[in-house]
Amino acid sequence: MKPLKVLSVVSEIYPLVKTGGLADVAGALPAALKPYDIEVTTLIPGYPAVMESLEGASEALQLGRDVFGGRARLLRGTARGLDVFVIDAPHLFNRPGNPYVSPHGTDWSDNALRFALLARTAARIGFGEVADYRPDIVHGHDWQAGLTGAYLVFGGKSRPATVFTIHNLAFQGKFPAEVFPMLHLPANAFRVEGVEYYGAVGYLKAGIMMSDRVTTVSPTYAAEIRTPEAGMGLDGLLRGRAHALSGVLNGIDDHVWNPLTDVHIPERYDARSPKRRRANKVALQQRFGLADEPDRLLFAVVSRLTWQKGLDLLLESIGSFLAVGAQLVVLGAGDKEIERGFRQAQDNYPGRIGVMIGYDEPLAHLMQAGADCLIVPSRFEPCGLTQLYALRYGAVPLVARVGGLADTVIDANEMARAEGVATGFQFQPVTKEMLQVAILRTADFWQRPEEWRQLVRNAMKADVSWTRPARHYAEIYRSLV
Ligand code: ADP
Repeated sequence: MKPLKVLSVVSEIYPLVKTGGLADVAGALPAALKPYDIEVTTLIPGYPAVMESLEGASEALQLGRDVFGGRARLLRGTARGLDVFVIDAPHLFNRPGNPYVSPHGTDWSDNALRFALLARTAARIGFGEVADYRPDIVHGHDWQAGLTGAYLVFGGKSRPATVFTIHNLAFQGKFPAEVFPMLHLPANAFRVEGVEYYGAVGYLKAGIMMSDRVTTVSPTYAAEIRTPEAGMGLDGLLRGRAHALSGVLNGIDDHVWNPLTDVHIPERYDARSPKRRRANKVALQQRFGLADEPDRLLFAVVSRLTWQKGLDLLLESIGSFLAVGAQLVVLGAGDKEIERGFRQAQDNYPGRIGVMIGYDEPLAHLMQAGADCLIVPSRFEPCGLTQLYALRYGAVPLVARVGGLADTVIDANEMARAEGVATGFQFQPVTKEMLQVAILRTADFWQRPEEWRQLVRNAMKADVSWTRPARHYAEIYRSLV
């Protein structure tokens, strides 16, 4: 088979910049697709962390002297083992803080232009403007890459095929119509068949509308977003594009998330030696200042602390953890109200509840390796990665039955237990009452150690690798050329 060249267009990529699961996926796909003869090069903005990691870079394209208010050029090189194109535009990307928000927590006011440049540059690469590189497929991720299809379609030249992946429909990149004249798109792009979205400019909408194929990150989410309840205003469009839409689950990067090789945990283990998790549990309890009682059921949360993740419901269920004699550790940051709530819970129940507000990658690994149960009570969840890590690490996942959580965790109901395939616990609807029932049910299971051990074994053996999803992407790419 002829090797295919795929240009992946994305606003964050592990290990260079990460705010969430998108970065993990973008970082893992290139290696995962290699066995299918697919060469992925990633186009990414030149944030400080990216520029610092760039090696062997050469100029691939002059982007101009006045690109949205400054000079910009395209570099090509490698960064931490990844093949990358980097947009060197200091006036747009050389800033502290995270890719989307300032250190004060507000969106950068010029996000519309910053990510228009990402998409416009992708299109220029797509048109073959870089010497020696012409992609067969341009694959954009989320709203930040949403205009890519528009620049390609309205560019009026022969273009490569396009794939667009929705990682989260909640972030739509919707900007006032006044932005449109700055985008260098033809006037006729501002219509319903183009980038216009309820009188504004919709980047995610444009990606859905103007890409040859649209994917999202789980089959259940692909179905959910076509309903008014979960479609966030885009369900009509998604129903219209149903023939081009499919769900491809995410996998996990085995080099980063593998309890047998993990450098962030004191005791390494695998599916044959889950007993060795105990030392990690003790380390985790100590880290959070909890009573080190290895026989006590230890729940964990590693998450953005937001309404989406259902963590307000968890806060209202603190009593249930206490009632069943369990401990809870929480690592996360986000909504100030929820952060305050968890701090308060820690103050009220020291030794039983431990909370770290912030972002800490190594600690996230220890939590997966030491906790007995990882809770993900999301109101909606496109795929979710933390439950996949939990499966891999034997932290039995307790999840809301929505989106990718529904697709990746097998509830320990009677039938699944009889078949010996259960890997965790699910609950629905996503209410505090049902969450509390699920906590009781989990604690009840914990009382039956042999059954619990079986759950851990099943979880650790579940296939959460990229093998199947990568094949699926490869099939999609090949169907387009
Ligand atoms: P989302 O992308 O919606 O935030 P996912 O479950 O898909 O949710 O991915 C979350 C990723 O971010 C995981 O890799 C998880 O370990 C990581 N993560 C989330 N919060 C934190 C945190 N406070 N510290 C370290 N890692 C975190």
